[in-house]
Amino acid sequence: MSKVLIIGAGGVGRVVTHKCAQAKDVFSAITLASRTQSKCDAIAAEIPDFPIKTAKVDADNVPELVALIQQEKPQLVLNVALPYQDLTIMDACLETGVDYLDTANYEPIDTAKFEYSWQWAYHDRFKEKGLMALLGSGFDPGVTNVYTALAAKKYLDEIHEIDIIDANAGSHGQPFATNFNPEINIREVTAPCRHWENGNWIETPALSTKHSFEFPDGIGPMNIYRMYHEEMESLVKHIPTIKKAQFWMTFSDNYLKHLEVLQNIGMTRIDEVEYQGQKIVPLQFLKAVLPDPGSLGPLTKGRTCIGVIARGIKDGKRKQVYIYNICDHEACYKEVNSQAISYTTGVPATVGAMMMLTGKWRGEGVFNMEQFDPELFLDVLAPMGLPTQVIDGGEWPEL
Ligand code: NDP
Repeated sequence: MSKVLIIGAGGVGRVVTHKCAQAKDVFSAITLASRTQSKCDAIAAEIPDFPIKTAKVDADNVPELVALIQQEKPQLVLNVALPYQDLTIMDACLETGVDYLDTANYEPIDTAKFEYSWQWAYHDRFKEKGLMALLGSGFDPGVTNVYTALAAKKYLDEIHEIDIIDANAGSHGQPFATNFNPEINIREVTAPCRHWENGNWIETPALSTKHSFEFPDGIGPMNIYRMYHEEMESLVKHIPTIKKAQFWMTFSDNYLKHLEVLQNIGMTRIDEVEYQGQKIVPLQFLKAVLPDPGSLGPLTKGRTCIGVIARGIKDGKRKQVYIYNICDHEACYKEVNSQAISYTTGVPATVGAMMMLTGKWRGEGVFNMEQFDPELFLDVLAPMGLPTQVIDGGEWPEL
């Protein structure tokens, strides 16, 4: 039985707190800390059957984090604050001798640069202290890494190509809103696209490659756009037979229309501008006026479909396998007061923590999800709310 410290009380923090409280056989105590303590208190109040301690912390401040960890004495810190805080929280875990887990790679606040180099550089320090850090335990990155590892382990003798496809076939009815933190979402979507091909990253303009893709289980055709996503970096490193890796996401025409205007008028800039004697970052201002993703929960209907098409060789023949999950926004809201985007991130974060705390996934150092046994993880993920579906040997067009 383990004590966990969750940092971040946003959409994902809410789901993680609910799901840890449901897994009473693993979690004996939960402290939920964030910049705004009232948000932690509101989440704790939703879970009357599990006493949740709340705290205020500035996760950019290592001494503050160290003091909180020393006071609460958790076995694991589950970081679901923002990517900007990954390194400070890792530093505090090293100083206090506590394991670490997150769902998104570190990003410097002033450059939209997505890479694992900063966090991989902590490997030796975690190893020397006998500690474990698990990176990217959300859905993508996270479950998509696990699905790729499953394709390589069970369905293919050699995996050659992957297409990770993330569809939100849901609708919230708002003119423009993002399903998770708007600042993080818009930084990711407007970054130049990169995909992996024959040992090189190929860069193309953001959202410049598009296909129509026929999604399974009645979801039907939707437009998918190629973009960079961080799990490709760790997957091509740890599974070097992958020759081509691409990431695709659905966007509605309406979302893209708004995004184009916002970009054209400078509202997605992440550098400081002077306004009435004050320095402001336009994207941070935009976040303040857009709907809070948390408020979309009761409004969002429809499903998500996120998965991986893996192609390669099985018994000497070329073969494809599609491994995916479908998640219903309204069912998530009914269960944990959040839509499926936060749910599909928070559930794998909880399951990653369960794998570490029960010793099913253990190691000393810094790890990505594909480095462990995928079946052990998926066996827990399904009963926790995200079942895996597999179409073994289908035919999908090469994207
Ligand atoms: P939110 O913006 O809803 O929540 C972030 C939380 O972190 C807020 O409670 C915020 O506090 C808190 N926070 C921000 N800065 C600090 C700080 N300096 N100190 C303490 N707390 C802080 O984001 P989400 O819940 O949507 O996302 C959480 C994480 O999950 C992000 O890193 C995101 O990139 C990741 N994610 C990963 C996905 C995946 O599949 N792998 C998918 C979706 C998200 P306050 O409320 O005061 O601002």
